Amino acid sequence: MSINNLNTSISYLKGVGPGRADLLKSELGIRTFGDLVNFFPNRYIDRSQFIKINQLQQNTSEIQILGKITELRTVQQAKGSRLVATFVDETGTMELVWFRGVKWIKEAIKLNTPYVIFGKTNYFKGLFSMPHPEMELLADYNKSLRTAMQPVYPSTEKLVNKNVTNRVISKMMQSLFEELNANFKETLSAGVIERLKLISKNEALLNIHFPRTQELLTKAQYRLKFEEFFFIQLQLLRKKLIRKSKFKGYPFLKVGDLFNHFYKNNLPFELTNAQKRVLKEIRKDMGSNAQMNRLLQGDVGSGKTIVALLTILIALDNEFQAAFMAPTEILATQHYNALTNLLKGMDVNVKLLTGSTKTKERKVIHEQLESGELHILIGTHALIEDKVKFRNLGIAIIDEQHRFGVEQRSKLWKKNQLPPHILVMTATPIPRTLAMSLYGDLDISVIDELPPNRKEVLTAHRYDANRLSVFKFLKEEIAKGRQVYIVYPLINESEAMDYKDLMDGYESITREFPKPTYQISIVHGQMKAEDKAYEMQRFQKRETQIMVATTVIEVGVDIPNSSVMVIESAERFGLSQLHQLRGRVGRGAAQSFCILMSSFKLSDDAKVRLKTMVETSDGFKIAEVDLKLRGPGNLMGTQQSGILNLKIADIVKDANLLKTARTMALELLDKDPDLNAPENRFIRVAYIELSKDSTLWANIS
Ligand code: ADP
Ligand code: MG
Repeated sequence: MSINNLNTSISYLKGVGPGRADLLKSELGIRTFGDLVNFFPNRYIDRSQFIKINQLQQNTSEIQILGKITELRTVQQAKGSRLVATFVDETGTMELVWFRGVKWIKEAIKLNTPYVIFGKTNYFKGLFSMPHPEMELLADYNKSLRTAMQPVYPSTEKLVNKNVTNRVISKMMQSLFEELNANFKETLSAGVIERLKLISKNEALLNIHFPRTQELLTKAQYRLKFEEFFFIQLQLLRKKLIRKSKFKGYPFLKVGDLFNHFYKNNLPFELTNAQKRVLKEIRKDMGSNAQMNRLLQGDVGSGKTIVALLTILIALDNEFQAAFMAPTEILATQHYNALTNLLKGMDVNVKLLTGSTKTKERKVIHEQLESGELHILIGTHALIEDKVKFRNLGIAIIDEQHRFGVEQRSKLWKKNQLPPHILVMTATPIPRTLAMSLYGDLDISVIDELPPNRKEVLTAHRYDANRLSVFKFLKEEIAKGRQVYIVYPLINESEAMDYKDLMDGYESITREFPKPTYQISIVHGQMKAEDKAYEMQRFQKRETQIMVATTVIEVGVDIPNSSVMVIESAERFGLSQLHQLRGRVGRGAAQSFCILMSSFKLSDDAKVRLKTMVETSDGFKIAEVDLKLRGPGNLMGTQQSGILNLKIADIVKDANLLKTARTMALELLDKDPDLNAPENRFIRVAYIELSKDSTLWANIS
């Protein structure tokens, strides 16, 4: 069989035609023979068992019976009519019933001829009946490729309505296998097949659609899942190889005066081992001739900012400029304050550019950027405006990657000859398996250690009924000089309901914590940027003790004196959000607390989320639970990824197989980076074919 056959349009398949072809395309994305072969069942029904009519019991699930129809009659009912057949085997009698397609079925049925029927039964007044059975003449049944485990294919309502049922799809599959002589090319090398004891591609495809035994089905699934992971990893890893060899970057050979001066005089603490290791990885990347494209993962509070600054200083030492982007104005301002503070006494020009930067200041920034006078520009989306032109951007640091699109980023370095080095920082720990699939083509650094002397945030779950004792506790903490966050869910900032919750909450807090003893700040998404900044500052300067807020404060805000985080309606937050919010406290010397408030009525998932939060503060563990609860498609930043549209494998359930696939792909590329070796020829052919219509997510730069 040649590749061309697989590229044949599905409309040429027996039993398809143009109408169905359109339907298959729009509903299932199936255009060609190859697409159909690779359209896999999502479950199987055991059809190895036949049941006799006298063995039927109430509440049985789907069953299969061999028998004959002896009589057919049409029964008039309120609306239209129903068709009833008397179905018998050697042990008894039952009925088959149709409410739809009566005319057509009546004509098609053969009386007194052996049929295999399949479906669910009902029981009423001593008689079993089966509505709309799947049925097939015994003669056809015996001829067909189909066997004990009957595949059930994914479907849509529209397909069913247009009568493209599971049975029809199965029939198409059968025609296809006949058409192609059930002969499919191998796509893996003998070496890989042998090492993992895989069955051949041909046997795998045959058994995934027409499983002969449960054992063969399991082997077919294993082989096809492996293959799916393997080729994705191969693409990601090759992309990385190619990028490293082809995409030149500015080599930052010097670690110069600024870096050394800072390290000796300004660094306020000793770096953790994890910070040192990551910095080494970054220096090595930037010192080579290839462009750095690195993802820096580190839990909240792990100290990514200082790593960013040291990275920036290396760029500056090599006479390049730096950009530092943050997703919100609050964060950008905070980074700006942190960096100017850290760089005190050093001759480094740092400026802040956000939506609220005044025109006059903007002009200065634009000019200084182009002249090279400005060394570091920190800001929000404003950085990617057309007027912003760096003279020579050497490093772009992007905090919280998921909020910036790929295209947006590349605007940053439109003036460059070579792309700048890129460091994307995220505080959203990504489970390893997910990172492998999503960012397999990036380099990843992990800060897996918190700075010393950090006490774990004590976390408790309390119900609304415990509110008074919670308030009492807050008063005690405030009396000790601590500050408190109270956060309300604002899932959608425009939702009036959420807004009302926040305002009601704010009012009850002001009643419970009256002036002048207590001062309260409030920050929410509908406020003007300058009002937000003003309120944040009051809190930062300790003029207020309580900050009532929505999730605006979610990411990165650093106020070490605040030691209590109260999360209202905690059951409405996702795990990663809860984790982010909790990360706002526990940054100073004091023992910190996180109180998760909820109502009594909780969904199972919400219970798991709250329990997880109480039990652990390890961001990676929390991310694993999140992945299991929500599946990969719903996690942060994954929506845009075609990598997660897997046909058969599942990155949660098949995590181990994914690791195996990645290892095998790495080993293969290590020995044969261009897939030129004769033993890899099948892999090469399959790889090229797959790359043609690859929907893999573009890499970060
Ligand atoms: P994040 O990774 O969440 O961005 P930050 O960079 O804001 O974390 O750091 C959190 C806090 O820890 C800051 O107050 C910072 O000054 C402090 N910090 C960072 N690294 C160290 C270290 N090695 N030793 C002590 N404190 C540190
Ligand atoms: Mg940060």
